[in-house]
Amino acid sequence: MSVDDLDGQVIAGTRATTTEIDLHLACLRRYPEIGAVLHTHAVHASIFAVTQKPIPCVLEEFEYYVGCDVPVAPYHGTGSGELGESVAALLGDRAATLIANHGLVVVGRSPEEALRLINLVERAARGH
Ligand SMILES: [Zn+2]
Repeated sequence: MSVDDLDGQVIAGTRATTTEIDLHLACLRRYPEIGAVLHTHAVHASIFAVTQKPIPCVLEEFEYYVGCDVPVAPYHGTGSGELGESVAALLGDRAATLIANHGLVVVGRSPEEALRLINLVERAARGH
């Protein structure tokens, strides 16, 4: 893992920065109150991403923690600035969004909270 500042400069770690650094930075810059951006290719959420269908908000806890349904950001190439901006734009009133033909992005106040949200979204996607 690498640790990068908000300009995308590596400040710690021994691994190369993710190719999706612009995705993470776009979210962190737009919403300074969040403390973590997690991106995954979780199987069930990715099925919704591939079919470009939002994950419906059918669980009470889902509305409470995620905000509502999980929308689908339009496809842009991995690592592109357009991808980051389109994802960040959808996170204003919810904590998760899908990326068309790609995967899932979740934000939280901490990495632990974001990880719990990934598990919640994946469980909801699996149930449909
Ligand atoms: Zn990805």
